Amino acid sequence: MEKIQNYINGEFSKPVSNQYLEVFEPATGAPYALVPNSNRLDVENAYVSAKEAFKNWSSITIQERSEYLNLIADKIEEKLNLFSEFESRDTGKPIQLSSSMDIPRSIYNLKFFAQYAEEYNFNFKLTNKTSQSRVVSKPLGVVGCISPWNLPLYLFTWKIAPALITGNTVIAKPSEITPYTAFKFSEICNEVGLPSGVLNIIHGEGAIVGDAIISHNDLKAISFTGGTQTGMKIANKTAASFKKMALEMGGKNPAIIFSDCDYDKMIKTVIKSTFTNQGQICLCSSRILVEKTLYEKFKKDFIRKTSEIIIGDPKEKEVEFGAVSSKEHFDKILNYIKVARDEGGSILFGGHPIKLNNRCSTGWFIQPTIIEGVSNKSKINQEEIFGPLATLIPFENENEAINIANDTTYGLSATIWSEDNLKLDRVSNKVNAGVIWTNCWLVRDLRTPFGGMKNSGYGREGGQEAMRFFTEQKTICKTI
Ligand code: NAD
Repeated sequence: MEKIQNYINGEFSKPVSNQYLEVFEPATGAPYALVPNSNRLDVENAYVSAKEAFKNWSSITIQERSEYLNLIADKIEEKLNLFSEFESRDTGKPIQLSSSMDIPRSIYNLKFFAQYAEEYNFNFKLTNKTSQSRVVSKPLGVVGCISPWNLPLYLFTWKIAPALITGNTVIAKPSEITPYTAFKFSEICNEVGLPSGVLNIIHGEGAIVGDAIISHNDLKAISFTGGTQTGMKIANKTAASFKKMALEMGGKNPAIIFSDCDYDKMIKTVIKSTFTNQGQICLCSSRILVEKTLYEKFKKDFIRKTSEIIIGDPKEKEVEFGAVSSKEHFDKILNYIKVARDEGGSILFGGHPIKLNNRCSTGWFIQPTIIEGVSNKSKINQEEIFGPLATLIPFENENEAINIANDTTYGLSATIWSEDNLKLDRVSNKVNAGVIWTNCWLVRDLRTPFGGMKNSGYGREGGQEAMRFFTEQKTICKTI
């Protein structure tokens, strides 16, 4: 089996422990590669190399750094098909999705931040009657970037691109469940001659490698995306170190559908916002709130449209819905379906594992599942499941919809459907979520702040938020 390697100081290396973990293909349920089971010593080696590399990397120009990011992006673009296959194999997502979303967006993350930083005003002057101040932004030093399994290269690049372009050097940890494209990324860094130690990729378990990164005294910032429970552990553990911290965490996102919406556009998009990537996007709609007058019609059409989703081997081009990421996650989702039944929910569609008849007969497939009849207070409506499972909840009026939408500890995203612009404004203003899509979903301008409210996030990513996060400002003042 292929052995993935760590990438430290521009070289590929075994973990100090010489121990490996199996990497599985969710579509078959079989292991296909081994990933380093690294430990604190590997992180320390990465730190030593990143610290040395910082001296030069932080002193070259943004244009020079952006050249490297663009070169890496171009190389990935040349290998788009290959990277899309790798991402699909590692995650169970359809090749259709990895080739149209994951890899193109990874390329764009690199190109976007390369250009954005070139145009960003890192240093500026402010003058009043008595003083003139010069504000200068400096890179932080060595920073840690920890990413999850659902959008592996997409979120990996979303973090490391702004960290690197602002002059920091990085220790990055991809998810141990989906490490392959990050490994291939390190090969490309070598190909384009990224200076040694600028980016170090350490593979392994969260509780060991992730923990070593967040607890390292000399790391200046941690950018983390993952579950809320993990984010809480990280926040607790690092509080006394005063590291800069950006935590992007879970969600329980409402889709709020009013009867005066553009129905055809809405239903087509809500199917996507619910089941894309088998519901494993932090921004997926998992609570579908429908105005009572539209509820029965919506329910019937939503079930029919869900039954038309093409489920199958993620390798096949026409397949729209693949496997879930791991056996553990598969069991977790099935358990939540049982919880929904126990809580009195009716399963309107799905609710079972799927057994395919091809090479995927032992893969981790679960039917897209629609549930109704559970209160918003139920476990199924309060806890993040992160799978192909949504509940339908009827509402009477605007205020009730807003109350239900906000009645959760999460606040990542929401979608609102209506043709009444004033209503869209009123509801968007009152729903507590970091990202609100009106009559659309997953449309992004990377300059805008991205992140969650409440237990969904701490800090923001994207555009100037990312530039600020990865730099430290100094004000130099004189009298005039
Ligand atoms: P996770 O929290 O289990 O793991 C995320 C990363 O953190 C992995 O690399 C993991 O190895 C590492 N990790 C685990 N324990 C750690 C610890 N104690 N210290 C340091 N690092 C540790 O999350 P996951 O299961 O990989 O991803 C799914 C979650 O990610 C969902 O909750 C989803 O909503 C969330 N997510 C959020 C966003 C967002 O932008 N808000 C985007 C994607 C995914």
